[in-house]
Amino acid sequence: MMSACPDPLWPSYRAGARLTVDLDAIASNYRYLQTLASGASCAAVVKADAYGLGIERVAPVLENAGATDFFVAHVDEGIRLRSVVSEKARITVLHGPRPGASADCVRYGLRPVLNSLEQIALWRDEGSRTDALPEAALQVDSGMSRFGLSDADLETLQADKGLVDGLKVGLVMSHLACADTPDHPANQAQKDRLLQMSARLPPAPLSLSASSGIFLGTDYHLDVVRPGAALYGIAPNRTGPNPLSPGFFRTFRDDVF
Ligand SMILES: *Cc1c(COP(=O)(O)O)cnc(C)c1O
Repeated sequence: MMSACPDPLWPSYRAGARLTVDLDAIASNYRYLQTLASGASCAAVVKADAYGLGIERVAPVLENAGATDFFVAHVDEGIRLRSVVSEKARITVLHGPRPGASADCVRYGLRPVLNSLEQIALWRDEGSRTDALPEAALQVDSGMSRFGLSDADLETLQADKGLVDGLKVGLVMSHLACADTPDHPANQAQKDRLLQMSARLPPAPLSLSASSGIFLGTDYHLDVVRPGAALYGIAPNRTGPNPLSPGFFRTFRDDVF
């Protein structure tokens, strides 16, 4: 049987499959997650083209559903997002400033995550060239060991207050390594580490949980939660039925192979 896909130039015709995105389901997942984490503010992670679903379509829908805080991976994603959300939307760049790209954070009002002393130095340099340095987020390594400031880095910062003076720190964050295993002891340990480490930094709202972390309970919500996958309907763990609505589904053409 031929599928109803008459134009051979349509990407779905050429690919042999069609991706259907349910924007209402994504909005309803956002509202569900914000309700679940009602003591915190629920951000929206839209990195990697909103997980492949199309940031230009997805981000405005999330904003309409109430999101004011967005996270992307790279500066270029932030620039792209800037043009499709309102001016008051806050955009945080997870990979932080890079040589040659940090000026664009200033130009487009993007909040970089500073993951290392090198990035802090780079951002301070940027600050010496502008009166309007956006606020930054600081990431600490609470146990994931992939990125973030270490204890030794925090010692350096405490020994030389000048390194963070002048930075507007709008968020202190970390990322859970094992949140999809709810009874994993690393979860509690990472939360404790974030609280300890943040006490050595300028006071700021705290953020620890991505999608799976939200389902660990209110102890893990802190000030800001950062779901990505759950917005799009992906189950947060394997412990029960998925409470989220499917945000996308694929249909395969039945006239090929
Ligand atoms: C990707 C990412 C998220 C979102 O993770 P999900 O598991 O998709 O919810 C949150 N925080 C950081 C730092 C990330 O890199």
